[in-house]
Amino acid sequence: MSLKYPPNDDLRRLLRFEPDSGAIWLGDRRMVLMHTMALAALRQDLMTSVGPEHARRILTRMGYASGLCDAEYARKTRPGDSLQDSFLVGPQLFMLEGAARVTPVKLTFDIQAGQFYGEFNWEHSWEAYAHQQMFGLDEDPACWTLLGYASGYTSAFMGRLILYKETLCAACGADHCQIIGRPIEEWPDGEAHRVYFNDDSLMEKMEALQSQVEALKSTLGPVSQGGQLIGNSTAFHKAYTLMQKVAQTQVTVLLTGETGVGKERFARALHELSTRADGPFVAVNCAALPSELIEAELFGVEKGAYTGAHASRSGRFERADGGTLLLDEVGELPLAAQAKLLRVLQEGEIERVGGETTRKVNVRLVAATNVDLEQAVLAGRFRRDLMYRLNVYPICIPPLRERKTDIEPLAQGMLARFCALHSKRVLGFEERALQALRQHDWPGNVRELENLVERGVILARQAGMVEVEHLFPNQPDSVQTSLDAHGQLARMPSVQDDDLSARILDSGSSLEDIEARVLDHAVARARGNLSEAARLLGLTRPQLAYRQKHRQSRGASASSPDLNREPGTL
Ligand SMILES: [Zn+2]
Repeated sequence: MSLKYPPNDDLRRLLRFEPDSGAIWLGDRRMVLMHTMALAALRQDLMTSVGPEHARRILTRMGYASGLCDAEYARKTRPGDSLQDSFLVGPQLFMLEGAARVTPVKLTFDIQAGQFYGEFNWEHSWEAYAHQQMFGLDEDPACWTLLGYASGYTSAFMGRLILYKETLCAACGADHCQIIGRPIEEWPDGEAHRVYFNDDSLMEKMEALQSQVEALKSTLGPVSQGGQLIGNSTAFHKAYTLMQKVAQTQVTVLLTGETGVGKERFARALHELSTRADGPFVAVNCAALPSELIEAELFGVEKGAYTGAHASRSGRFERADGGTLLLDEVGELPLAAQAKLLRVLQEGEIERVGGETTRKVNVRLVAATNVDLEQAVLAGRFRRDLMYRLNVYPICIPPLRERKTDIEPLAQGMLARFCALHSKRVLGFEERALQALRQHDWPGNVRELENLVERGVILARQAGMVEVEHLFPNQPDSVQTSLDAHGQLARMPSVQDDDLSARILDSGSSLEDIEARVLDHAVARARGNLSEAARLLGLTRPQLAYRQKHRQSRGASASSPDLNREPGTL
């Protein structure tokens, strides 16, 4: 077989410049004339943004697509000619398009038998030149787009994947490039090259990595969690003992308590005390996920289940396999997801969104909520059957204000942790600061305490103490705290309080009247619960009882006649 090119007039005729319509055509396909410098810049961008391996894959596939297109002209342009002349349309178009000068060295093929061997030399490869301009001499061949073209063209011509490799490359300092093409199966390392032709996307890889990162993150303690549970109070010990007793079983646990009491910390401790301690601990906050994504997040999703599901990925249940899954704020779960969760609990297997097969999972479930599930059931927001499933072993974690003796040890532990985190040396809390911490009502519970202590550490002087102003800096009257009549830290009157005082004075009521009315109001607001009323007033229950008794002993004559009117109308 002589390897002489037939004349290329037929191919040159395919190429038409139509500047008036702003188009260049090769047959019926539109082309574009582009600066090799621009392509070189694109190459460089790809190399730096996605790395050489992905850049190589993208460029190979681009060349491959181009080769596929050109293969159409092989049969179209030279239908009656020899198969070899048909094949040479590829190298001739390649030259016409300005890729490189191709000299065939050896070419044998048999389409029927699927046999192919091709050896070519390339001179003036634009890609080798561009690569060398950008990166200097390389150790490895760099004509990726061009090799992709050769593979695309020959594969389409032969009807099977033909892999080309560069045995010499001008980008490595050779005076020309040399390529050899064979069916991919005939290359000893052919399979390893298949990746360059697959459309395995970087997006999928990134999404897979992202979900791995999330899984890892959820197994790490959040910064705010730091270490073990701390508490001295009876209320704390009661909850802790309940947790210890159930830890070694597989029973579903329901943690209840106000926001910020440390439910996740309890769940983590439960996991660590359980036989699953070596397995994963995965936490998911049901309230933090958009309702349309929550099922995919919990149970996983198959590729293409919905727009944006670029890749199949496992859900939290699968990731928690062999370990513990915390469903925080379970009361916020949408009803559809509740039904699915119930099925998982009943059957011990999950089905991914958009999937048809079920998978067994071995997960110990801990649910947490700050809403009353019973109320949610009555309101139609939560399934009763699911509530029963979850509420096998409830543990109520008391709010911080009901375990005030825990405040100081908690705060000391947090102080040490935040000093380490912020590289700061703080010696401790001033006595007034500790007193303020003990007095505070902690609506945000342990989380609020944590925020305050962190702020205190940041604001305290290096090698100084945390002062009360560091903890409560935003209260306009914080500098005016002083001890009240009961020896407790209290705010000095603010402007608003002055306003109230003025109105009281204007009303002409006596101090005793005012006190009586405030006491009644507090009792009414607490619906007759005297302990609660005392708490509202900042008194102990005996103090409140004493005041009420004292008032009664003074007799009705001392009270103003309108004492019994509706409370709250000062
Ligand atoms: Zn090369």
